[in-house]
Amino acid sequence: MNLRLRLSMKSLLGMWLAMYLGVASSCGRFDSGAAQTPPDIPCDRSLRCIGRWLCLYKEKHGTFPPSTLIDANGNKTSWRLVLLRSFPEYLSGPQEVAMAAYKSDQPWNSPENIEWSNAHGGQFHSRFFCQTEAYVEEHGARWIDEQFTSYLMVVRQQDGVEAMPLPESAIVVVECTGCAVSWWKPEDICINTILEADSPFGTGRLNSGHPDFVKAVRADGEVINIPKDITKNDLRDLLDGTHKEADSFLSKRKR
Ligand SMILES: [Zn+2]
Repeated sequence: MNLRLRLSMKSLLGMWLAMYLGVASSCGRFDSGAAQTPPDIPCDRSLRCIGRWLCLYKEKHGTFPPSTLIDANGNKTSWRLVLLRSFPEYLSGPQEVAMAAYKSDQPWNSPENIEWSNAHGGQFHSRFFCQTEAYVEEHGARWIDEQFTSYLMVVRQQDGVEAMPLPESAIVVVECTGCAVSWWKPEDICINTILEADSPFGTGRLNSGHPDFVKAVRADGEVINIPKDITKNDLRDLLDGTHKEADSFLSKRKR
């Protein structure tokens, strides 16, 4: 290969790398392991962790956190942030410092908290995200949006702020990939939105990229797989914790 050809190939390679890295920095975190790991394994891990934290919170406070915590000044905080702030011992040192910088005495979308989410939100995002969530494929790599959550709490009361006592096998958190809810935003899904639609499955309702099921967390912290062909009556019983064969839906994946 002559020198001129080798130089032009080198410069082409350099240009391609520059374009590739440019896409990388503009699209978010590079998830290098995702291509090799079936996405239901990390999804199970994240949901089991959420289930464990919800149960620990209940042990400490006597009830699950409400989907939206409202302080005396009317500022709203999502249960996702409440869990992270309740258990700093489960955060890394830098995560603990970052979480302490969140202004809980301000609205979740105050300019300072938006700045906080831009600077630190990516550190916590993977805890509330399923890798089957829509991604952009570039040069064979997978890219995920660090803003949106895949997991919403099931809201049973109209105002969505009051925690309720629930049967152990009732469903408290469901997968809603594509819901476009920022992970620290106090917004979840009303049980009527799931049950009163023509189909409980689809964008804005129960949704996942897993082929046959949508995952969920029960009040006892267990993770279950809800089949996408389940009847509406069976789904209602599962959500309410009154299904006679509730344990047959348990995810077999181990942590
Ligand atoms: Zn998932």
